[in-house]
Amino acid sequence: CSGAPGRRGTPDSTMSLIVQKYGGTSVGSTDRIKNVAKRVAHYRREGHRIVVVVSAMSGETNRLLGLAKELSASPDPRELDVIAATGEQVTIGLLAIALKEMGIPAKSYTGGQVRVLTDSAYTKARILEIDEAAMRKDLDAGTVVVVAGFQGVDRDGSITTLGRGGSDTSAVALAAALKADECQIYTDVDGVYTTDPRIVPEARRLNSISFEEMLEMASLGSKVLQIRSVEFAGKYKVKLRVLSSFQDEGEGTLITVEEEKNMEQPIISGIAFNRDEAKLTMLGVPDKPGIAYQILGAIADANIDVDMIIQNVGHDGMTDLSFTVNRGEFAKATAILEDVKVKLGAREITGDNKICKVSAVGVGMRSHPGVASQMFRTLAEEGINIRMISTSEIKISVVIDDKYLELAVRALHKAFGLDTPA
Ligand code: ASP
Ligand code: MG
Repeated sequence: CSGAPGRRGTPDSTMSLIVQKYGGTSVGSTDRIKNVAKRVAHYRREGHRIVVVVSAMSGETNRLLGLAKELSASPDPRELDVIAATGEQVTIGLLAIALKEMGIPAKSYTGGQVRVLTDSAYTKARILEIDEAAMRKDLDAGTVVVVAGFQGVDRDGSITTLGRGGSDTSAVALAAALKADECQIYTDVDGVYTTDPRIVPEARRLNSISFEEMLEMASLGSKVLQIRSVEFAGKYKVKLRVLSSFQDEGEGTLITVEEEKNMEQPIISGIAFNRDEAKLTMLGVPDKPGIAYQILGAIADANIDVDMIIQNVGHDGMTDLSFTVNRGEFAKATAILEDVKVKLGAREITGDNKICKVSAVGVGMRSHPGVASQMFRTLAEEGINIRMISTSEIKISVVIDDKYLELAVRALHKAFGLDTPA
């Protein structure tokens, strides 16, 4: 990355207020921090007011948490946050120095110094309120405000963090609090793609995607943005754009409210997938009230997230219930079901942890019937057996054997016309 960025994704009016967030790889070395400073300086010189949110240098948060794990198998979460928050504290100081070196007035803020007030749920705190007065004063004076992502402070003054990948949420929350014209997320990809280009080389960058679609893509494994940041942006109508920090050109992907999308939008915007799935089935459960509650309640009590749920039509007073969980929780969930099985007098538990989920996502399917049947036909033509199906208004998901993941994603990407430029 060199020189001045072009007019990529810049709000038209000068003196716009822009929040820019740079992830770990973008600030992974002092050279890269210098490049970030150049980009920030460019926008600043154009007359924009800039708030920059940074992550820790890549690998740093893992390293810091690893140190705590060397001392304890289950470290106190409050202290984990004290440790983890230092990663971002380093990058704000470094970036502020780099900016000043270029003659740009800049000032760093930790989350606590801004006063990003959160609850006290250490390691996964939620933002309650942001005091934007001090930042606004700096911005009015022409100073670039550099804020540590991922962190806040609770009412007692303890340092908190927002969960891994939380700087995205910090940036969106700051943009909402400051009523910024745009929140730009700079990352190592140049936008949101129709699917993972490592699986489908024909995958294309989307110019825009709706918040709802982005939420589905994120929850289905597209790791471009932390899910919570997308929820936040949708709720507070923050104009959110994903851009590459390693390219000077390109509009990135605008995440927007549906109405703003153009009329010729495709029915399907993307094919998402998740490899980390496992399926459990309880066979021969007495078919009476409270069964689903007793089975899934026990799973929920163990804090295990359940995704798809299917209950068969009962016969002879018996039924079967299947559901999927994250693959990492398969063993734990199986052990819980064994207990429940005895209590309920169920016949058998079966499980499969070599499954995956593939989904077609698109707001266009609201007004176009037949998307599901096209999806099932495509998979049938490839000889792929569907094990479970679930649908929402803007998504159809199937569970299949994980050995067919690549084949299914490629076939669906093509069948829904995503291979060819729009
Ligand atoms: N540094 C934190 C993490 O690695 C937060 C972030 O990068 O968004 O999770
Ligand atoms: Mg990230």
